[in-house]
Amino acid sequence: MNKINFVKELEKRGIDCNESQLNLLWNFMHHVLDTNEKFNLTAIKDEETFVEKMIFDSALLLNNHEFEGSDLLDIGAGAGFPSVVVSILSPNTHVVALDSTAKKVNFIKEYAKRNNLNMSAVCARAEDYAEQNREKYTLVTARAVASLRILIELAMPMLKVGGVLIAMKGPGFEEEIIEAEGAFKKLKCKIDYIYEDQLPESQETRSFIYIKKVGETPKKYPRPFGEIKARPL
Ligand code: SAM
Repeated sequence: MNKINFVKELEKRGIDCNESQLNLLWNFMHHVLDTNEKFNLTAIKDEETFVEKMIFDSALLLNNHEFEGSDLLDIGAGAGFPSVVVSILSPNTHVVALDSTAKKVNFIKEYAKRNNLNMSAVCARAEDYAEQNREKYTLVTARAVASLRILIELAMPMLKVGGVLIAMKGPGFEEEIIEAEGAFKKLKCKIDYIYEDQLPESQETRSFIYIKKVGETPKKYPRPFGEIKARPL
């Protein structure tokens, strides 16, 4: 995907991207791809594919939710997807990128500092970070991190009541929703909305599942990760 198509496809969806944001997104991509040569950050190495499947996909988040001024936590941010892309396109959103891998977190920290982004990065497992950060965020995002029933146990404790988890998924999410029925009840949350779109060049489907927290999360969640994995809700 080239710059012209990128901006055109965002415009079609009502997402603004000015010249300096566009240049910064490309700069970010080059920085990820250059760093990939030293240590592995992302699997996709080809520029045009990277733009569509990593940057455009992350930018689609801004299609239908009010981000301005919110506090957003990105669980399992990796090299910064969607967190760095959201921070560049929505500078008034305060973004925290959370990942358990130190080299990825350091990579985001350095990039954010050098480019004065309104974001920070934390190295911790979500279930540990939740202990000190309950009911703190209005939005939580997660792209390619865990199945839905596991993800909502990690995310819900950190959301304020009324806050929303946006789970970014590829095709086949319907099965995950069925599996997560029990977890929705126990964790006091429900699906608010599902936004589906197609990547313009590869035609791959992307789904954004909006899950709203409707009541306080019982204190016993999240459980230690071993337990979450062995006995998902
Ligand atoms: N979201 C990024 C993306 O779309 O490119 C990274 C996806 S990568 C497949 C999953 C990331 O989640 C890894 O960087 C991993 O370290 C992180 N992760 C997995 N479980 C986690 C947990 N419980 N707490 C924090 N990070 C976690």
